[in-house]
Amino acid sequence: MLIMGAPGAGKGTQSTALAEAYSVPAISTGDIFRANIRNATELGVKIKALIEAGEYVSDDVTEAIVADRLAEEDCSSGFLLDGFPRTMHQVHFLDRHLSRQRRGLNAVVSLVVEPDELVARLLDRAQKEGRTDDNEDTIRRRMEVYAGQTAPLLFHYERQGLLVEVEGTGTVEEVRQRMLEAVAAHKA
Ligand code: ADP
Repeated sequence: MLIMGAPGAGKGTQSTALAEAYSVPAISTGDIFRANIRNATELGVKIKALIEAGEYVSDDVTEAIVADRLAEEDCSSGFLLDGFPRTMHQVHFLDRHLSRQRRGLNAVVSLVVEPDELVARLLDRAQKEGRTDDNEDTIRRRMEVYAGQTAPLLFHYERQGLLVEVEGTGTVEEVRQRMLEAVAAHKA
C-alpha cells in the first residue's frame, strides 16, 4: 500500500495506524532522510540543504534507498510506503520494480485536507517539533512542489482503480477510523 497527501495532511501519523492494522512495516522516505541528516552520513550531508529548502531529493538517490528497504525481510509479505513515490519517475520505477518481483499495489490512500488547514498544522508543528523544514518559506515551497509534482500522480493510481480518498480533517482518531473503513471497503 501507499499513503499520499500534501505536507501536513497527516501521512506520518496515519501511516502508523494503517501499517499496524495490516501488520506491515511503514516506510517513510522523509524519516529515512532525516535519520541520515541527524547521523551526518554521506547521504545526509548531501541532502541536508535540499530538504531544508523544501526541494525533493533526486529520483535516483530516492529510488535506490527504497529498493534497498523493500528488499529487507520484513517487507516480504507487504509494506506501506509513506512519501514515496513523489514524482512520475518514481511511480514508473515502483511499478517496474514490483512487477519484476510479481508483486503489485493493493491500495493507494490519499489523505485530503484543504490548503489553509495544512499551513496551520505545519506552523503549529514547527513550534512543537522544531523540524527545520517547517518554516513559512519552506512550507510554501513544499506545497508548490507537492501540487506540481506529486498531486498529479493521484490520477495515475485512480486510473488503475487503486485510489482510496480519505477526508483528513477531524481528530486523529476520527481520521484513523475513516481511513481503516475506507481501505477495508476498497480491498473487499
Ligand atoms: P512532508 O510530506 O511533510 O513534506 P516528509 O517527511 O514526507 O514530509 O518529507 C520531507 C522531505 O523529504 C521532503 O520535503 C523532500 O525533501 C524529502 N523527500 C521525502 N520523500 C521523498 C521522495 N520520495 N522523493 C524526493 N524527496 C523526498
